[in-house]
Amino acid sequence: MVIYSFIFHKTSSYATDTILAGQALAVNDKLISKNGRYALGFFETSRKSSKSTTNWYLGIWFNTVPKFTSAWVANRDRPIKNSTSLALTISHDGNLIILNQSTESIIWSTQVKMAKNSTTAMLQSDGNFILANSSNSSQVLWQSFDHPTDTFFPGAKLGWNKVTGLNRRLVSSKNLINPASGVYCTELDPSGVNQFWLAPLNSSVPYWSSGKWNGEYFASIPEMAGKAVFNSKFVDNDQEKYYTYNLKDENMISWQVQDVSGQSKLFIWIKGSQEWVMIYRQPKDLCDVYAICGPFTICNGNALTYCNCIEGFTITSPEDWDLEDRTGGCSRNTPLDCIRNKSTTHTTDKFYSVPCVKLPQNPRKVKAAANTSMCAQVCLNRCSCTAYSFSDGRCLIWHNEMLNIRTVQFSDTTNSTGETLYLRISAKEVQSSKNNRRGIVIEVVIGTGVSVLGLLALILALMIWRNKKKSSDRILNGSQVCNGLIAFKYNDLQGATKRFEDNLGAGSFGSVFKGFIDDSIAIAVKRLDGAYQGEKQFRAEVSSIGAVQHINLVKLVGFCCEGSKRLLVYEYMSNRSLDVHLFRSNSAMVNWTARYQIALGVARGLTYLHESCRDCIIHCDIKPENILLDASFHPKIADFGMAKLLGRNFSRVVTTMRGTAGYLAPEWIAGVATPKVDVYSYGMVLLEIISGKRNSNASCSSGGDLDIYFPVHAARKLLEGDMRSLVDQRLHGDVNLDEAELACKVACWCIQDDDLDRPTMGQVVQILEGLVEIRMPPIPRLLQAMAGTSHSVCS
Ligand code: ADP
Ligand code: MG
Repeated sequence: MVIYSFIFHKTSSYATDTILAGQALAVNDKLISKNGRYALGFFETSRKSSKSTTNWYLGIWFNTVPKFTSAWVANRDRPIKNSTSLALTISHDGNLIILNQSTESIIWSTQVKMAKNSTTAMLQSDGNFILANSSNSSQVLWQSFDHPTDTFFPGAKLGWNKVTGLNRRLVSSKNLINPASGVYCTELDPSGVNQFWLAPLNSSVPYWSSGKWNGEYFASIPEMAGKAVFNSKFVDNDQEKYYTYNLKDENMISWQVQDVSGQSKLFIWIKGSQEWVMIYRQPKDLCDVYAICGPFTICNGNALTYCNCIEGFTITSPEDWDLEDRTGGCSRNTPLDCIRNKSTTHTTDKFYSVPCVKLPQNPRKVKAAANTSMCAQVCLNRCSCTAYSFSDGRCLIWHNEMLNIRTVQFSDTTNSTGETLYLRISAKEVQSSKNNRRGIVIEVVIGTGVSVLGLLALILALMIWRNKKKSSDRILNGSQVCNGLIAFKYNDLQGATKRFEDNLGAGSFGSVFKGFIDDSIAIAVKRLDGAYQGEKQFRAEVSSIGAVQHINLVKLVGFCCEGSKRLLVYEYMSNRSLDVHLFRSNSAMVNWTARYQIALGVARGLTYLHESCRDCIIHCDIKPENILLDASFHPKIADFGMAKLLGRNFSRVVTTMRGTAGYLAPEWIAGVATPKVDVYSYGMVLLEIISGKRNSNASCSSGGDLDIYFPVHAARKLLEGDMRSLVDQRLHGDVNLDEAELACKVACWCIQDDDLDRPTMGQVVQILEGLVEIRMPPIPRLLQAMAGTSHSVCS
């Protein structure tokens, strides 16, 4: 593992923003801008891997941000190894220099050509470090804003000085800790269009562009208009052409950076949580960034680990990869036979098929190859050929390194299932690859040229493979595997569920049926009523649901989308849903320990949905029916992502058909959904886990005419310290009362009227794990009002 750090030296007697002639800034000193916002000084980065390397830099960082974040570096490509007798000073000719005082050698200089001048250096409040004439401070001789690194300061310019030819552009850092020049660049479009773009360094082919400036904002960034956090300006006159911006709120601390990932990102420092929060990034899909994962990789923008090596390849430098520098990509595990034996005539190399991908750029077209096997043969005949693809009568081949292979998203209507790339690998890799479902090894047995025998063998091999596949994967007859999800044919699902015979239950959106794949793997098929969405949107939503995976979430196996039919296929959960055990059984089938673990598991699953996924998912329908239990009673949440999948229909159904006090937070009934609506429903479910009864039925009418609503009753009993009467009687007192009290406290906090009073799901997990203490909750007022006026019924 790589351990790395930034160290900067706090001890400073130098609380000033200027360096005058004759003064020097030593390693432990720093300049601070007048407003206190920026600091300039020396800092070191070190990477403690096998051998420790420390580099020193002169730079500017955010002075009020405790998490060290550099915004400019003077010597990014010339790190200093030894910090002894290092100083920043003004030389005799007036230039700013980094000097090694013991050897008198100059390590870095502003290199302004001038007659002997008297100059002063100053770190301005906008973060610009300037060198100006001492007698006339408006005569700026050099400024850091003219030599940006990866950060675009508010007030700085992105663009050209037409007179001098100076081009101010941002270049990403090498990796997360090394500020050296990396491979991605943000600059004004050099062809003259009024836009800026992101491109590989020194390339004229951008992977993202801002769209034209329309006087107010760039066409592809409409977010910039109106309520944006900054004012923007695009200037094009005789002398200059640039883009600049300023923050509307001067107290806000922002950081706009050309990130190591190739994306342009805007962060805001949030004091309360002490972290940089990203409010904007482009391009949104990381896989759009040119060569983001390096050679021989597949990029999947929906997966959590979006870069993966192709089968038969391994990460070239895991250490760089960890630091987000993936330029090395992946390397072959076993060299190709053709390279080892320097022969193309009897090569044993094979092809491995990678389905459902967007093909890499810059292929060579081979006109003479009229079918797949000829195309394969053309590739085998050239040692440098690494892959081929054949579709629609078109043969494409690639040589050497391959970049930008990416998984096709279902939303891509132009080519909804992508294409298949046949990658050349060594025969030795075949065995291990064969076990992998994603690709299939095609054994092309061909000698020199396109022999008839070879072709026959190929056809034979394909036929055998097809038959094998048919008998082992009958259900997949005609179905396709993409993004790890199976796109089922309707007929296959009809067969798997014996014509939808075994109905597990019906909800507001359809019914769920039990079925089997290959007669052995149990599945639950959810048939959605009516076609809610067009195919494109449905596929897009399904593919993003499929990418969300956690031990406490039910796994989506596949889907079917044919005509107006919409079905979802999930893993089958043998112990069904929690309601079955809590409300429909006479004996307490789930003991207290299991109940507490279920509560904790559900909280973890929800935390993942709210916080850890790339886009926050609000479940909006948490209830015992959507908490499923596997063979060992571990809980998994079902039906997440339905709110987006079903769109407006979802909120209509959830809020009207069951819109009682049930599990719905008051604000959700009014149409506002935040993660706190799930917290509310979770609280309601938690009370039911404790009591073993439905909140709505479990009113306690032990002595009066008016029933009191159970959650209010529970909150009161909790305050009175009487837990025993709240817990499910079927447990016969076999309960850890401390845990029950803690769970009840959590539940009551979760069902508070004001969503700001409710904890987050992450906090719930910490509380239930015993890591954080909580106070006694107040009785939720709204519920109390709804429950009537009686205070004395439950005693
Ligand atoms: P609801 O969640 O409103 O009850 P659904 O249509 O989502 O409606 O589900 C109906 C029932 O099917 C659920 O109550 C549950 O008992 C059962 N069920 C749903 N998904 C699965 C699954 N993956 N495994 C086992 N049972 C399931
Ligand atoms: Mg459900």
